[in-house]
Amino acid sequence: MSDRTWTVKGIAQELQQVTADLHQVNLKAGLVRFTILGLIFLSLVTLAWSVANNVLFVAVTMLAGVFYSFWLICTHDMAHQTLTGWKWFDSIMPRLIGWPMLWPYSIYAEIHRLHHAWNGIDLRDPERVQWTWQEYEQAMPIVRWYISHQWLCDIFIFGGVGLILKTFIKGVSFQNVVAGMRRQIILDVTGIIFVHSFFLMLAIFQGEILRYILFWLILERIIGMITQTRDHLEHYALWGKFTSHQLTQLYACRNIQTSSVVSWLMGGLDYHAVHHTFSDIPFNQLPTAFKQIQSVLKKYNLPLMERESGYLKSAYCLSRNPSLIKDGDGSITPNRHRMIPVSK
Ligand SMILES: [Zn+2]
Ligand SMILES: [Zn+2]
Repeated sequence: MSDRTWTVKGIAQELQQVTADLHQVNLKAGLVRFTILGLIFLSLVTLAWSVANNVLFVAVTMLAGVFYSFWLICTHDMAHQTLTGWKWFDSIMPRLIGWPMLWPYSIYAEIHRLHHAWNGIDLRDPERVQWTWQEYEQAMPIVRWYISHQWLCDIFIFGGVGLILKTFIKGVSFQNVVAGMRRQIILDVTGIIFVHSFFLMLAIFQGEILRYILFWLILERIIGMITQTRDHLEHYALWGKFTSHQLTQLYACRNIQTSSVVSWLMGGLDYHAVHHTFSDIPFNQLPTAFKQIQSVLKKYNLPLMERESGYLKSAYCLSRNPSLIKDGDGSITPNRHRMIPVSK
């Protein structure tokens, strides 16, 4: 066996060892996060519907949308069964809170597994947002324009509806790749129809149908903006395959430096590289895991993981410098694929 194989094995073993005691799900930490965010959101919804003033209704609903976004991020933890450790809770709750926004959680949970397996490795990755140079070359002029303004278009125009449609389309296109995908699609469609019939009937009987549609659209816009931004930040301009799956995940994901409050709201996704490397480590242990992994990387003289400063600053910089994925040179040392600027 070559030295390199031994080193890769050694790194994998050490990474496993230094994070061994961080995989235990903390029921209290998960329940507290889920309950606090849920209570704040539901209180704001109650407040919005109890005010007569339209401006106040819109403002409070917008704030509710912010907290709904963070509440929905809990569904990502539940897709990995790392929020509470209760199987029933992590299966039922994400559907109950996702379906009112037309969010096909069951499909998402399936394609998210593919994302973890394929990020940086297989361009079929269903959550890949960055376009390749080949795709750009073959695209129509209107699509090329979209690619060079992708961040703004996705965040402010496509928003939540864009994410919902993309998830449905990916679910349908991976029907033959993922066993049971068809069942998940049927489950989501049935659940969404059922939940929406209930809310629509309620709105009609109360004579508030227009207000309800406005309420839903405001939530969709706010959630779309926050989720699309987070989605783009996690991997944009980092595509690249390294010597092992573990190292690929460490380097093909973005960590963001932020306050502990924002980190808590984001469910630890500011440590996205750590999450991708060990998806069974719960959110509250990710900062510790980050430090432990860095020490192993340092020991083996590998590049340390970076932490870019702030969600807004990073989003602003990346959105102003759109880039495309171009093939790497195939060398065995950590080597990101070339990112070439989109010519406007
Ligand atoms: Zn990811
Ligand atoms: Zn994940």
